[in-house]
Amino acid sequence: MTSPRRTFAIISHPDAGKTTLTEKLLYVGGAIHLAGEVKARGANRRAKSDWMKIEQQRGISVTSSVMTFEKDGVTFNLLDTPGHEDFSEDTYRTLTAVDSAVMVIDAARGIEAQTRKLFEVCRLRSVPIITFVNKVDREGRAPFELLDEIADILALDVAPMNWPIGMGGEFEGIMDLSSGRISRPEGDSRTFQGTSDVDPLSDRFAEEVELAQGGYAAFDETAYRNGDLTPVYFGSALKDFGPAELIAALAAYAPPPRPQPAEPAPVAPDTSEVTGFIFKVQANMDPQHRDRIAFMRLCSGTFKRGMKLTPTGHGKPIAVHSPILFFAQDREIADEAFPGDIIGIPNHGTLRVGDTLSERAAVRFTGLPNFAPEILRRVQLKDPTKTKQLRKALDDMAEEGVTQVFYPEIGSNWIIGVVGQLQLDVLLSRLDAEYKVAAGLEPAPFDTARWISAADPADLKAFTDLNRAAMAKDRDGNPVFLAKSSWEVGYVADRYPKVKFAATRER
Ligand code: GDP
Repeated sequence: MTSPRRTFAIISHPDAGKTTLTEKLLYVGGAIHLAGEVKARGANRRAKSDWMKIEQQRGISVTSSVMTFEKDGVTFNLLDTPGHEDFSEDTYRTLTAVDSAVMVIDAARGIEAQTRKLFEVCRLRSVPIITFVNKVDREGRAPFELLDEIADILALDVAPMNWPIGMGGEFEGIMDLSSGRISRPEGDSRTFQGTSDVDPLSDRFAEEVELAQGGYAAFDETAYRNGDLTPVYFGSALKDFGPAELIAALAAYAPPPRPQPAEPAPVAPDTSEVTGFIFKVQANMDPQHRDRIAFMRLCSGTFKRGMKLTPTGHGKPIAVHSPILFFAQDREIADEAFPGDIIGIPNHGTLRVGDTLSERAAVRFTGLPNFAPEILRRVQLKDPTKTKQLRKALDDMAEEGVTQVFYPEIGSNWIIGVVGQLQLDVLLSRLDAEYKVAAGLEPAPFDTARWISAADPADLKAFTDLNRAAMAKDRDGNPVFLAKSSWEVGYVADRYPKVKFAATRER
């Protein structure tokens, strides 16, 4: 018998406390292991530090990681999402690989921009959310105000699960609303020692707790799993109020691996065939070796080491001899993995984001889109003899999902597209560090792009012939219309009703 799986991510605005909470969860879970920092094997550490430079400069974490731990018979796979402000495709794709999410909110700040964006992504995929209102040890906003804000802005029912007895200087502990048990800070460190306390509450708090219990929806597991209700836990990651309760809540309520959207039909986790999809590809930090780690979410079957899996649509079976499971202190060779688990598959660029892997190659997972870029730039090569290296680098990074690349039909200036500014910094820095290509970026005469298609090829041809100066191909050779503005897209779409202009493209 395998243990139940909980595959989840933490979503938050920078500074809300995601890193602190992650560490505490790992600590409570008895495993501190930060994977995803795939180690450069015996080699060039300088390249790694170049890469890390951006992270340090911007104070952000560019790479995602996978952290696995076990607690009370449940296996938790925590997928980290980059916490910077730019919405990135990487983040979106990571959220396609989880079954639930924990939303961390700063008690003094409430719902912030990035929290909201990430929440919308979760809603799109009906990913259920547990809310953690962090930093109640500091002066924050009134709990009622925070609950109402979550309910209003996110259009969700909220069910408070516990209640802070005061905040900041007045913080006296946290009451579990179902048992009435109060956890109080102890000693100088004010760390949670698991004390239960039946002291009568002061009148003021007794009234507040009564209102909290009466004024909001009671927790309803079905509503939570449907994404209509979020249970709300107040706590302090820093002072250890809450992490243990959060883990218990994930174990008790969060959904196990769900059926995944696929063609010709969704794949249920209890299907015996091994299937999975790649949601992230990470280049090795060592520029001398072009090997990569593809992160696969296992959707069904029992994966066994050495198994042959075939990428649907392109090709030959791959024998997965050295899969990486993200347990324990170092990366470990996995012998077995189960639905909901993430496996790192070393490869030399054959595996791409969005790929489906399975034993029989008869299914294809859907729903891992490319996004229409919001920023387009022309790539300017400083040394014209490096054209080949540049093309290779741009293709590689498009494959990893760092940036998209468009090859215009007219002219030789390649155009790259990103969803957030940060991706541009990553691109330039990696071109320099890994590919030794000095390049600059200049404004492109376009602002956005759409993938185009038409039921009748003649309609598509008529359109492309008339708009050749705005036509390009993406890395896979799909036709793309480059537009000066989204207004232009609307205008052109009206004039060519038979042509479809898509802002996302599913691979
Ligand atoms: P992230 O950007 O969301 O990963 O946030 P961090 O975990 O790095 O936390 C941002 C800042 O808030 C750091 O200075 C933390 O020490 C602090 N912090 C995190 N959790 C708490 C908490 O529960 N209480 C207090 N007072 N500070 C916290």
